[in-house]
Amino acid sequence: MKQITELDDDCVWHATAVDAPVTPPLEEDIQAEIAIVGAGYTGLVTALRLAERGHEPVVVEARQPGFGGSGRNLGHCTPTLHFWPYAKIKKLYGDDYAERIIRMQTQGAEHVFSLIEHYQIECEAVRNGILRPAASPRHLDGLRAQKEFYEKHGLRGHMLSAAEARDLSGSQRYHGGWLMEGAGHLNPLGYARGLARAALSRGAKIYTESPVAGVEREGVRWRVRTATGSVLAEKVLMATGAYTIGPPWPKLNTAFDLTPVAGLASGPLDPELRKEVLKGDHSMVDTHGDPVLYKWTQHNRLITTVFFAGRMGHDREATRDYMTRKTKWVFPQLGEVKWEHYWYGLLDGQYRTVPRIYRLDDNVYSCLGYSGRGVPTATAAGSVLADLLEGKDQAELSLPVEPFKRVTPGLAALQALHMRWGRMRDRMRHRLDGMRELPPTL
Ligand SMILES: Cc1cc2nc3c(=O)[nH]c(=O)nc-3n(C[C@H](O)[C@H](O)[C@H](O)COP(=O)(O)OP(=O)(O)OC[C@H]3O[C@@H](n4cnc5c(N)ncnc54)[C@H](O)[C@@H]3O)c2cc1C
Repeated sequence: MKQITELDDDCVWHATAVDAPVTPPLEEDIQAEIAIVGAGYTGLVTALRLAERGHEPVVVEARQPGFGGSGRNLGHCTPTLHFWPYAKIKKLYGDDYAERIIRMQTQGAEHVFSLIEHYQIECEAVRNGILRPAASPRHLDGLRAQKEFYEKHGLRGHMLSAAEARDLSGSQRYHGGWLMEGAGHLNPLGYARGLARAALSRGAKIYTESPVAGVEREGVRWRVRTATGSVLAEKVLMATGAYTIGPPWPKLNTAFDLTPVAGLASGPLDPELRKEVLKGDHSMVDTHGDPVLYKWTQHNRLITTVFFAGRMGHDREATRDYMTRKTKWVFPQLGEVKWEHYWYGLLDGQYRTVPRIYRLDDNVYSCLGYSGRGVPTATAAGSVLADLLEGKDQAELSLPVEPFKRVTPGLAALQALHMRWGRMRDRMRHRLDGMRELPPTL
């Protein structure tokens, strides 16, 4: 049985995001054209897009908007796919869908930042681009190939010299890089709460503290049932992601494999440091096998993240210590950073890192498996799901609608091994590059 971590009070976004809109629990039996289970980005953007087109969708959430991954992620908005190279995506999906999926992904950031602007969502949004510095000179050709590919698909960017990458990152560890324009970062819980507010403003209804216990057929409609009420709907979207509670639909929690990810936030640091470290306020994701990710918040907190780490992520102290040493290795000028907030979250991993829309039954769908790209991907997928629920021809959608398929078990374990191998490979590569100070070990 997969475990759901409770709301982690130590998550920095709970201390810094704007308040959630006030929403009631579901305490009556109501009817709706479309019911959506889950108020993360997937559920909220779908509801918002439907409401913008004149529908009155009903969202039923077990806890609060952004309770799941949408309120605990790191807020990097990276409109590329983890999975690479493109030839493999083509092989898996065929030329046509591969092209559509890439287009959807590269437009993800545009969806995010235009929603933020249009609905004036307060979420510390910064759209200065993503910095992809090369940890080894050997990574530059691959970065250049990705940059050229994504540029052809509408994502502007440029290659950086070693001096530019070092200057923009504030770290001497790099050998050049790719600055991806149009991308950015935000306060993820603030974004989720803002989406909820926007959806409500357009006429969607949101019920909270109302875990859905089951979805049962009633004639041609579906009854979405909680302990205290229900929604009788023509169509249902299960948007419960990695935080699927129950599950409210048989085997829904087997559609993905859970990958633990830790987030760490320093207390507010001296603003002068920002003149040197990530001076352009970029999100930074480097090319190490165990990738180094950093960004600043509006209040000068440094945010970082790590996949798994000590005892597969279970040893918090070892992980915290590892991240302090790693940060010192990347940015010696910061000294020993003290992490004021430390939290864990779960990623809904899918093979190929492409989200999957599953048809669960007549007029019942789910969309899961954002594999760490939920900010842009779930936001873009929300428009696709709104099209699907409105009855648009499925053959025209950006994602294929597939029959339900259980993820092959063991994906997370494979990823953990991959990460461990990545750490070893990083050290070997640095040795070959002649680097004297190798990255720290766990
Ligand atoms: C630590 C961490 C770091 C990440 N970093 C990034 C990042 O930097 N950039 C990025 O793009 N992505 C990142 N991600 C991934 C991203 O957060 C997710 O892909 C995205 O939030 C998924 O959105 P969702 O709406 O599908 O699911 P969720 O946000 O998980 O929402 C699902 C909702 O369904 C509700 N629910 C579940 N079961 C029921 C039920 N029975 N009844 C009613 N409601 C129910 C839950 O309470 C929850 O609110 C990260 C994820 C984690 C965990």
